[in-house]
Amino acid sequence: MIEMSVEYTDAPTTRPEPDAADKMPCPYCGHLLPKDAQSCDRCDWTRPATETAEGKASDAVAVILSVIPGLGHIYKGHRLAGFLWMAGAVPVGIFVFLAAIASAGFGIGLFFFYLIAVMLHAYAVDDRVVTPKEDEGEEY
Ligand SMILES: [Zn+2]
Repeated sequence: MIEMSVEYTDAPTTRPEPDAADKMPCPYCGHLLPKDAQSCDRCDWTRPATETAEGKASDAVAVILSVIPGLGHIYKGHRLAGFLWMAGAVPVGIFVFLAAIASAGFGIGLFFFYLIAVMLHAYAVDDRVVTPKEDEGEEY
């Protein structure tokens, strides 16, 4: 007996797929939560706890910490960028020191340009929530 061959395989599936774009990992435990979740059902994370604590204030704190180049970045979670800024301060510092000797102190001012650059970057860079499982690489 031959049956009518009707293919349903191409029928559109309206079943909603779990989309990673609608999810966010819990900042504390990494458990996937809905993007607008207010709290985690696996641990005691709540959205206000992280947003009020590290939202606006961190930019100012990052700028202040940037008096030591790189510290503001590390504070925001950009550890590699922080160490790069910190490492960059060494040759800049040596150059400024030599320039200061050569120009009778005027070269000291050059270091402020470096500090301003570090502070602006520390201010502009996004907070990076470090989760144990995610490794997106460093953003600059
Ligand atoms: Zn959690």
